[in-house]
Amino acid sequence: MKRCPKCNFLNEDFASSCGGCGAPFGLGIVKKFKDSKTNLYAKYALVLGIISIPLIYFCLGWITGATAIAFGILARYKIKKSQGTQTGGTMSLVGIILGIVAVGAAVALLIYAAYITNPMGCSGIPGNPELFLEGRGIN
Ligand SMILES: [Zn+2]
Repeated sequence: MKRCPKCNFLNEDFASSCGGCGAPFGLGIVKKFKDSKTNLYAKYALVLGIISIPLIYFCLGWITGATAIAFGILARYKIKKSQGTQTGGTMSLVGIILGIVAVGAAVALLIYAAYITNPMGCSGIPGNPELFLEGRGIN
């Protein structure tokens, strides 16, 4: 059974219009969500860019960061092609920048971890720098 939003009359599930007031059961509500003009990839890029920053600490920032960059570039390309019907240029740019920061931080952290010490223990190298240096024949 489905209830008519206008008159509260209970109709059969297969009814295409209300038996009480005659109002048609259309798709009017569904259409509302399709009209978003912000490019979806731009939104993804921004969200991924933002979550990349805390993820740097867990050494996963580069994954979301790289995805944010890819989505951001894709969004900017699609926005440009849409000839003004889509927005989100700034959003995607921020996503790209945050993505670059996350990837850059991950790379810097990896270099730092590999050559000096391993403060977060996340590069796959054992945490003891002495052992690491010994293994490489530096000490
Ligand atoms: Zn009705």
